[in-house]
Amino acid sequence: MNLIHEQARDIPVLAETDLLVTGGGPAGLAAAIAASREGVNVLLMERYGCFGGVISQVGVEGFAWYRHEKTIEAGGLVPEFEQKCAEIAGSNPECQSLSQALDAEMFKYVADVMIEEAKVRPLLHSAAVQAIVEDGIIKGVIAEGKSGRFAVLAKRVIDTTGDADIAAFAGAPYTKAPKDKLMSVTTLFHCKGVDTRRFRDYIKNELKPTYRDWGGYWSIKTSGKEDDLFSPYFERPFVEAVQNGLVPKEANVSLGGSWSSITDEGEVTQLNVVFIGNVDCTDIEDLTRAEIQGRRNALYCVEVLRKKVPGFEKAKLRNFGMTLGARESRKIEGRSFLTAEDVMGEARFDDAIAIFPEFIDGAGYLIKPTTGRYYQIPFGCIVPQKIDNLLVAGRSISGDQIAHVSFRNMACCVATGQGAGVAAAVSLKEGTPSSMVDIRKVQQALKRQNVRYY
Ligand SMILES: Cc1cc2nc3c(=O)[nH]c(=O)nc-3n(C[C@H](O)[C@H](O)[C@H](O)COP(=O)(O)OP(=O)(O)OC[C@H]3O[C@@H](n4cnc5c(N)ncnc54)[C@H](O)[C@@H]3O)c2cc1C
Repeated sequence: MNLIHEQARDIPVLAETDLLVTGGGPAGLAAAIAASREGVNVLLMERYGCFGGVISQVGVEGFAWYRHEKTIEAGGLVPEFEQKCAEIAGSNPECQSLSQALDAEMFKYVADVMIEEAKVRPLLHSAAVQAIVEDGIIKGVIAEGKSGRFAVLAKRVIDTTGDADIAAFAGAPYTKAPKDKLMSVTTLFHCKGVDTRRFRDYIKNELKPTYRDWGGYWSIKTSGKEDDLFSPYFERPFVEAVQNGLVPKEANVSLGGSWSSITDEGEVTQLNVVFIGNVDCTDIEDLTRAEIQGRRNALYCVEVLRKKVPGFEKAKLRNFGMTLGARESRKIEGRSFLTAEDVMGEARFDDAIAIFPEFIDGAGYLIKPTTGRYYQIPFGCIVPQKIDNLLVAGRSISGDQIAHVSFRNMACCVATGQGAGVAAAVSLKEGTPSSMVDIRKVQQALKRQNVRYY
């Protein structure tokens, strides 16, 4: 690759703050709100024009599609997000759980309101591009936006970029699977103009979908108790469309997927049927290829739905997500490492900052938390090695592939985000480095914030 030398230059310091949270998805929102409630000054930086991450930028609405009667979960900001959506935006019944699906568009506004109420300083349209590190301690980040390049200095930083961007820029060790082993990326889309009565009849009388159906194209293992539960999943229309040439083979359209809600306005939301593999979502050339291929494949899928699925005859695309949805990239090598055995074995840790139900969705497994089993997440999983005063929350915390497909779920990202926010605030107030924070004081503060970490 050709290289050029970039000249060193002075850049403005836009802000100095106690805590900088980079990335405004489920984890970042939770980290910023939780820390601010502990009384520290927080700035939340986000590269796009809205907060919400995968919810509002990709269109994922199934915030808690794992929830059944006996499910035990973390509380704290997880139900608060849901309540706020119900109050402000209205939500739609999520069809495979006891939850409501969040309205992805309205969540942009819900997030604004929550940030304002928590007195967090928002900074949109600002992409962090470098970490400022001195003697192994993070001091802030360099970011870029329409105003050019600038710095934000902070006593503590939380990386909630999903891709562990800040940890990687800072030189903290991380892992990233080879791209043919990473989870697929998805162009999510929503349809309008569906005859929902006909679609519901088709689901009830013909499709009769259950989680067992995932065992076709996806080769998913369940724990057995999931097999006969309803799942909003279809693959037959897509398999037939490829066999019949309705979709060209080279289009590489995947052969099954799910929807989230069916609304009274004739919408079917969160159509999660376009999967593109071999994409490293930290590589802009891969991202460009996948964005373009994803939109084309989504339109093939709309055509398949119109031709093959009762109720969709006059349906149209309502919208694509504003960006591709990425499921997996970098994960930090933390002080602790969460494993499949921890997730499936109800692990307990002295330094727990959150719990999450035994819910696994990916890496060949689908296990739903119908029995009340849950695991704890240790503080050590959000503490990177080598760089202090930096915590990492959300889908890029430290763990193996199976643990990842559990903790990547949005409600768990909220839980680790809240844990990180509270830990950063306690470390600021106590004057200890974030890696050395008194975990008992963090747990007490989490309890005051109605988090169940035990
Ligand atoms: C297609 C798809 C379907 C899914 N379905 C479900 C589901 O039904 N239920 C569920 O619970 N989970 C689902 N997931 C998983 C879940 O949505 C994600 O794992 C979760 O949103 C991760 O949260 P996060 O806060 O870690 O990261 P994200 O939601 O990715 O948020 C990261 C934020 O950081 C910003 N950012 C990134 N880099 C920078 C930077 N350098 N500077 C500034 N800002 C930056 C991003 O713009 C974004 O706002 C799905 C994921 C995908 C892709």
